Amino acid sequence: MNATWKPTLSQQKKNRRKRRAFLLMAVLAVVGLGGYFFVVDFSTPVMAGTDKASTAEKLAVVPDIEIAVNNSPQDLVPDHILKRTILPGDNLSAIFDSVKINQSYLFQILAADESLLALDILRSGNTLTFTLDEETRELVKMELFIHPAHQIVYHRVDENSFDYKEIVLAGTWEPQLFDGDIVGSFYQSAISVGLSEHEIGNITYLFKNKVDFSRDIRAGDRFQVIRKLQIVNGKLTGQSHIEAVRILTRKHQYSAFLFEDGNFYDDQGESLARAFKRYPFTGHFRISSPFNLARLHPVTGRVAPHKGVDFGMPVGTSIYSTGDGVVTRVKNHPFAGKYIEIKHDGRYLTRYMHLSRITVKRGQKIQRGERIALSGNTGRSTGPHLHYELHIKGRAVNPITAKIPMTASIPKGKFQKFKHRTAELISLMDQPRFDLVGS
Ligand SMILES: [Zn+2]
Repeated sequence: MNATWKPTLSQQKKNRRKRRAFLLMAVLAVVGLGGYFFVVDFSTPVMAGTDKASTAEKLAVVPDIEIAVNNSPQDLVPDHILKRTILPGDNLSAIFDSVKINQSYLFQILAADESLLALDILRSGNTLTFTLDEETRELVKMELFIHPAHQIVYHRVDENSFDYKEIVLAGTWEPQLFDGDIVGSFYQSAISVGLSEHEIGNITYLFKNKVDFSRDIRAGDRFQVIRKLQIVNGKLTGQSHIEAVRILTRKHQYSAFLFEDGNFYDDQGESLARAFKRYPFTGHFRISSPFNLARLHPVTGRVAPHKGVDFGMPVGTSIYSTGDGVVTRVKNHPFAGKYIEIKHDGRYLTRYMHLSRITVKRGQKIQRGERIALSGNTGRSTGPHLHYELHIKGRAVNPITAKIPMTASIPKGKFQKFKHRTAELISLMDQPRFDLVGS
């Protein structure tokens, strides 16, 4: 386990040289700081699928030991198994050509991927493993390895179709504390303690209604960030999220704590994000197909989850973002049609599909209620409608019934739990600064 932590620790040394700030990894608790991190609750793995609906989904949460074989590059690969690492600029069609697999299989796999859309974003470094029938040389299985805790297996079910199984390992989430003084801008100071540009963007966005980072933050102010890193089999998966932030200025203390509902709240339990809208349109449209993770396909009889809600509406109806956020995808999928994905504060994500026209760009910041598109009938669609999805902490939930931040504060019944959780995070941040290895 220690070996996999070494790069992170050497990174820490580098950061420490640059700034008088320290990074404290939970793993150090194991090597002699026993009990220091004991206060932190590790009990909320992001994608473990604890809601009962997910059992019906094609999602398998398996013990960490069962990592698929394609994780071991030294394995001998027989000639009916082809492995391809995704390179920058790659596209699926070219990859299929390069491994000499007929494009008709790609089309069948994309049909299976419609409710997941995992293949719409190819990240360089991810791998695809193709398994061919040893005699007919036809494709029977394609595995997408995203990171050690997340894989998807597309497998042939009959002559014309594939199905998928998503493998998600819960792993453990270890906290990492960043504690720094403001020297120059917040951005410079946060970079120098080791936070990424993306994380700094998230933090400034989180406090956008409270803190003007160019005016309110001055030299000598202090900031603290707790980030959690996912570990599977002693290895970092590359997945992380921010759990808590404090900004301590001369006059004010600003804070943000992630709660179990995926939303950030200040120390009084007031939501930092603005409330969500329930519907991405104005007026009333009937639900033509409800959210149903256990939906059975009328022809095949197999589970074909419907991870969103369909609203029947005329082509050209204005579609609005249900929350503040950033556009993370603008895509055209053969089955989902033209669609948009928006990442919101906290751990929320929305998708809008089968659009006729998209009026925003990838990377664009969006306000709740801002028009983002016109509805349509693109992709595999049986009539003009909007397919709307809401994901909380990586899982699709029913957008009609989900407990979204409609209210501005922690509900009364949950307040004690919230207080308990934030007290743990605060006690971690309130530890006196010290240098773990000596300077
Ligand atoms: Zn739908």
